[in-house]
Amino acid sequence: MLSVLDLFRVGLGPSSSHTVGPMRIAKRFLRAAAKSGTLSRAARVEIELQGSLALTGVGHGTDKAVILGLLGFDPETADPDEAEAAFRKTVEEKSLTLHRGDTIEFNAVKDILYRGDNVPELHPNGMALRLFASEPSEPAIFEQVYYSTGGGFIASARRLARPAAGDVVPDQTRSPHSFGSAAELLSLCDQSGLSIRRLMLINEDERRPRETTLSQLDLITDTMLACIDRGLATEGILPGGLEVKRRAPDLYRKLKTGAGVNEREALFDWLNVYAMAVNEENAAGGRVVTAPTNGAAGILPAVLRHYCCDDDGTPIRSKTQRFLLVAGGIGLLYKQRASISGAEMGCQGEVGVACSMAAGGLAAVWGATPVQCLTAAEIGMEHNLGLTCDPVGGLVQVPCIERNAIGTVKAVNAARLALHQDGQGKVSLDQVIETMRQTGLDMSSKYKETSQGGLAVNVVAC
Ligand code: SF4
Repeated sequence: MLSVLDLFRVGLGPSSSHTVGPMRIAKRFLRAAAKSGTLSRAARVEIELQGSLALTGVGHGTDKAVILGLLGFDPETADPDEAEAAFRKTVEEKSLTLHRGDTIEFNAVKDILYRGDNVPELHPNGMALRLFASEPSEPAIFEQVYYSTGGGFIASARRLARPAAGDVVPDQTRSPHSFGSAAELLSLCDQSGLSIRRLMLINEDERRPRETTLSQLDLITDTMLACIDRGLATEGILPGGLEVKRRAPDLYRKLKTGAGVNEREALFDWLNVYAMAVNEENAAGGRVVTAPTNGAAGILPAVLRHYCCDDDGTPIRSKTQRFLLVAGGIGLLYKQRASISGAEMGCQGEVGVACSMAAGGLAAVWGATPVQCLTAAEIGMEHNLGLTCDPVGGLVQVPCIERNAIGTVKAVNAARLALHQDGQGKVSLDQVIETMRQTGLDMSSKYKETSQGGLAVNVVAC
């Protein structure tokens, strides 16, 4: 069992698999190099981005993330402005201070290799890192291969090569209510009489004191809400060259002045504006929470802001904690039984999973039974099956920003449908997760975060 807190990570946009993961990999590589005694002899470093990391790496800011990781930045704590300045300095001065240690020569154009033709079998987001004592023409003195497996999770080649272990680092923590499927989760709730929220909380208690878990959940909520606030207040054009205008501030102004407030459809506007605010921040490299990924980071905060806060935006902690615990429990099922990586599953693994999590969490906030919560989650995914990932220009902007808005509305509708249903419908959550997994495996790589198909080829990026 993973922890719910593993799913919700604070990091910089625009992508958990292409930004947060690579930053963590670069840092982990240097730690391993230091342990091996080779770091102090390093004169050059080379990073080979493979598969999807190479094909959409430029638009997703993977080069910047790698450099920041080598400089010692952490995705959780990096200040976006400080990180941007450090990145620019490194590129302009063509030198790099490895993890705040030795300074070496570094040319981002030559030392970061984009090998989109090399799609690793273990996972499409591969990254090989090498240290050299002199020029890269000499043999490397230290080399490692890692994978960014989605949602900011990373794994070594050794770990992924062991299918039994998967990409989950073994954790000695024994959860009192371990579950590997939705059916097991439901049966545990049935036997114990616990709600999903309580069961998840008891599991988390094995890892840390309850107050720490709750305060971490509150921090996640606060980070989500702060991201919405920044997105609502920041105007301008998003970076990357696609000339996409931020739309959330305009729409928010209209809503605040009361325009259309009595229209029945105003609900859509509120959900849309919160989701777009987060995803516009994400596209600009701002601080977001993976929920469960950066690309899909707008759906949970939008639902949380609209249904778990006062009218003035103050979080109602009992609701936000319930929402995140239940949504997180559902997210763990996808992480453990399939994948939350767009490069493996297409957008159904990102926006689809976020929609499913938000639907289950919202149903819980509305007082649904465990069966109804999981039914909401099932509906949330069922109608996202087959959703492809085809970001225009390799940027996390089109279709990603609007897709989060649509996913948010779908999540609310899924929760409503489930609330009007007594038992489980024809399709179970386990069946829909397995269907997502199989669909992802069958999907052409053109539609899995490579920008080689769909909108990415039909919409001219400039
Ligand atoms: S299309 Fe979906 S999966 Fe692909 S980058 Fe955008 S949000 Fe992520």
